[in-house]
Amino acid sequence: MTWKYIYIIVIALYGALDVIIQKNKKSIVSLKSKDRTYLPVLITFIITLTSVPFEFIYLHKQNSWPAMISGIIICMIATFVRTKGHFDLGRGFSTRVEKQENHKLVTSGIYRLIRHPMYLAIILLLTGACIMLKAIFSWIFVLINFYTLLRRIKKEEEFLLANFPEYSEYMKKTYKLFPFIY
Ligand code: SAH
Repeated sequence: MTWKYIYIIVIALYGALDVIIQKNKKSIVSLKSKDRTYLPVLITFIITLTSVPFEFIYLHKQNSWPAMISGIIICMIATFVRTKGHFDLGRGFSTRVEKQENHKLVTSGIYRLIRHPMYLAIILLLTGACIMLKAIFSWIFVLINFYTLLRRIKKEEEFLLANFPEYSEYMKKTYKLFPFIY
């Protein structure tokens, strides 16, 4: 039954780090955008992380250690990518699509490689969670979450293109989510 605690610790580590870093960022919004993409991402994220352990308890009940360890490693990579994104983006971070006071376009650090590392971290965490607990049906929620993230990216990139003239040049040099792939 140790899986229960491992799952909670791994997910809580990602969540706690994210919340602590967010709380320490104080920025003043200078331009908001009309976007309704945040809630769908958050809701499908929470549904997936809840559905995975439920599926495990009621259907699968056990998983092999190699699968569990692979899932944990993927979740750890997700936590690293999310945290690195937070540090590189600094005060430009927001749960909404908006512009902060003195907001500069970040093109260095992990943003030199991909434009949406923090969204990649979400996909990685959910994938790791599914592998860790042998999910089958919960993958449908991962796919829905991926779709909500693609909608969010579309809105965000439209906003960034309109507000940072250098964004179109930056887009040509970088991948969206997966380094060297997409
Ligand atoms: N999509 C990025 C950032 C998520 S936080 C990622 O996944 O890592 C969302 C906020 O980041 C938005 O309000 C947007 O204005 C801002 N943002 C996105 N990319 C940025 C960049 N390269 N430089 C500065 N701000 C950025």
